[in-house]
Amino acid sequence: MTRRKLVAGNWKMHGMRADLVEVEAIAAAAAAHRQIDVVLALPATLIGPAAAYAGPLAIGGQDCHANPKGAHTGCLSAAMLHEAGASVVIVGHSERRADQNETSQDAWAKAEAARAAGLRVILCCGETEAERDAGRAERVVQAQIEKSVPEDANGDWFTLAYEPRWAIGTGRTPTPEEIASIHAIARAKMRQLVGDAAGGIRILYGGSVTGDNAASILATPEVDGALVGGASLTAAKFVPIIEAAA
Ligand code: PEP
Repeated sequence: MTRRKLVAGNWKMHGMRADLVEVEAIAAAAAAHRQIDVVLALPATLIGPAAAYAGPLAIGGQDCHANPKGAHTGCLSAAMLHEAGASVVIVGHSERRADQNETSQDAWAKAEAARAAGLRVILCCGETEAERDAGRAERVVQAQIEKSVPEDANGDWFTLAYEPRWAIGTGRTPTPEEIASIHAIARAKMRQLVGDAAGGIRILYGGSVTGDNAASILATPEVDGALVGGASLTAAKFVPIIEAAA
């Protein structure tokens, strides 16, 4: 099955209004490469201003609460992100798993909440370095998928991102063979859960993707795109990754 490539940036806790010039330049690159999908997951404070002129660049949030409303100080519901202008949200990012003790069950609940609010979802999974060293990467990813992928997931609204935690922000990446192997295992696991719909679900690779390695990573079998942190913060670094995918 042919799947459109998707390149997603995650600005994490970076970005002030002055940085909207970068969003504008990235939106121009997305407009020039409409054969692929481009997403930018921004701090919530920038979603509204960016969405006003993003065009084909989809603006995303970086997390949402699993409940639609309630006494959850400091949290944002999926509907709030949607109303602000987001069309996508990342859930289950490893930094939230590490910093906020989020579990795969939390990621599942957030994905369901996001879908109910009309958002598309990028759900992250990936092993730690200790798990990799212990030869458990495959089992860890399979277990995360089992617990977090909604049973009605399909490619219209759901994307999986494989992000080995030891590769995030470190400049280290798995070999293309390792990436292809885990992606194939992830798709097989999703096929068990959602049947033929798994064939339409994009699987992104994330972890130290840059303009230098994007072409080889994106050419790897089973890789349908990239989730990019540090190299998405400026157009100068992110646009070459978009171009490599196009
Ligand atoms: C991420 O945080 O999702 C990520 C992939 O970060 P980086 O590209 O900086 O490794």
